Amino acid sequence: RAIVRDIDMLEEKNPSIQPQPTPEVDPTMFEKRFLKKIRDLGEGHFGKVELCRYDPRGDKTGELVAVKSLKPSNRDGQSNNLSCEINILKELYHENIVKYKGICQEEGGQAIKLIMEYLPLGSLKDYLPRNKSRTGLSTLLSYSVQICKGMDYLGSHKYIHRDLAARNVLVENERTVKIGDFGLTKSIKNNEGYYTVKDENESPVYWYAPECLTHCKFYLASDVWSFGVTMYELITYCDSDKTPMMLFGDIIGKSHGQMTIIRLVEALTEGKRLPRPEACPEAVYQLMRRCWEKAPDLRITFERLVEELTKMQL
Ligand code: ADP
Ligand code: MG
Repeated sequence: RAIVRDIDMLEEKNPSIQPQPTPEVDPTMFEKRFLKKIRDLGEGHFGKVELCRYDPRGDKTGELVAVKSLKPSNRDGQSNNLSCEINILKELYHENIVKYKGICQEEGGQAIKLIMEYLPLGSLKDYLPRNKSRTGLSTLLSYSVQICKGMDYLGSHKYIHRDLAARNVLVENERTVKIGDFGLTKSIKNNEGYYTVKDENESPVYWYAPECLTHCKFYLASDVWSFGVTMYELITYCDSDKTPMMLFGDIIGKSHGQMTIIRLVEALTEGKRLPRPEACPEAVYQLMRRCWEKAPDLRITFERLVEELTKMQL
């Protein structure tokens, strides 16, 4: 006590030794003027992602970040979409989920941007076709385990992803992948809403379980179905001649618009599924099939998938 009193007295006499209040800088607020675009990284339904350097010192020593904004055509209708994505990603901490870094707000507070870590190897859809020779089956299975771990974490936080596909899994390095697009993610408490497909080519209908197509209902188990399709993409190295869309096209024939969805549901109801890819071991294919059980509650869970896939890797 005596010592504390002495210090108080000293401080009064000599204000310069008072502890400096730490300046109120929020490391998650990125200033637009310091964000320098380097190049485009990619775009999807709503968003567009750019590689930028955040360079407050202006000497190119700043860090590289990935910056997601809404495409101009979507700015009005989907303006809340990115804010939702930001709020969800902010809460997620997992080694197989892309890291949130912060936001950047325009002067007027209008358009908001999501700042995340930059994963230099891009999405699995970019990476796999170019790196077939260095990526064996055991690596593909390891990627699958990592995706399931990330998804199991997401599900344990009561979120459904609704857009799990190779294009939305990012590659950190040869060994590590992360789930990287939460634009359609919804909390399971209010999963009444549904997403209307706009661009047929990019539409995720071929990744969707029957209950999503018929009732627009998404369960955790609907993500498991999409994971099965994602695994199919991995095993085919995202071959652009064997996309899920093309193979379902072979099954249901050429059709357009709503008719595609009707035919697809018919085929799935009859028990038709994506075929086993050439180089795919039967045991791996059987695991995909367990993701594609018609009844959601009969499908394998992400937890079990982690176990089964880990066993297979050995
Ligand atoms: P959308 O919601 O529009 O689909 P995504 O978040 O999926 O947007 O990003 C679109 C594409 O941008 C991805 O498929 C990927 O190629 C690239 N991308 C996204 N985030 C990153 C990142 N953090 N690092 C590197 N590339 C990224
Ligand atoms: Mg995407």
